[in-house]
Amino acid sequence: MYIGNHLSPLKGFENMGKEALQLGANTFAFFTRNPRGSAAKEIDPEDVLKLRKLMEEHHFGKLVAHAPYTMNVCAQKENIRKFSRETLADDMNRMEYLPGNYYNFHPGSHVGQGAEAAIPIIADAINYALKPEHTTTLLLETMPGKGSEMGRNFEELRAIIDLVELKDKVGVCFDTCHVWDGGYDIVGDLEGVLRQFDDIIGLDRLKAVHLNDSMNVRDSHKDRHQKIGEGEIGAEALKAVVKHPVLADKPFILETPNDDEGYAKEIAMIKSW
Ligand code: FE
Ligand code: FE
Ligand code: ZN
Repeated sequence: MYIGNHLSPLKGFENMGKEALQLGANTFAFFTRNPRGSAAKEIDPEDVLKLRKLMEEHHFGKLVAHAPYTMNVCAQKENIRKFSRETLADDMNRMEYLPGNYYNFHPGSHVGQGAEAAIPIIADAINYALKPEHTTTLLLETMPGKGSEMGRNFEELRAIIDLVELKDKVGVCFDTCHVWDGGYDIVGDLEGVLRQFDDIIGLDRLKAVHLNDSMNVRDSHKDRHQKIGEGEIGAEALKAVVKHPVLADKPFILETPNDDEGYAKEIAMIKSW
């Protein structure tokens, strides 16, 4: 299996790989730039090559890079929308230093414009950013539907994907906390939720999993992550996710409230499943 957590890119690419190994991981996530800011660090191609070599030697799974939180491609304000679209396009180009991995992003918040209006705006931004030569798969994250957040259900994600031109470069990242907070019963009926995903989006688009427990009950639309086994989803249900035949070969990324020691423990526990 492929399991890991979010690591800080500030120490460099090779160091993230080394850190992952120390934690017992064989994949990881990282923010492509300051999650709350905009500046992107200059990429050192040699450092990236060292990471690629380390990943090959240690049989890493695909990495799941994460877009900054400040990005909102369907923002109401034109300047935020434009900045977000440029950031997305720039990140897609920069991801080519690490060919063939994943780049996950939040579809955005429509802030009063309505979901109907936001869907084509998000698809436009994706179409602007994606180029035929890109080897990265862009992942839309399933969102809990806090406020005017887009991607609150499988139908919204499908509607966005329908308007994307280079469809083979788009997938979905299944966040267990978000899906649960969004109302899907992965505890009582994981099979049913995955069937719904398959009917609406298609399971071939499910490329990665954000493995999180939730502090809140189902359908709360809250988005407060909890440590594995200490939340409302619970260890048994998350174990079923990890072991499910259609999910088992995906990269699992922990976004749980832990320090390094906590992550090492969680990773070891999940591997033992
Ligand atoms: Fe996310
Ligand atoms: Fe997530
Ligand atoms: Zn979240």
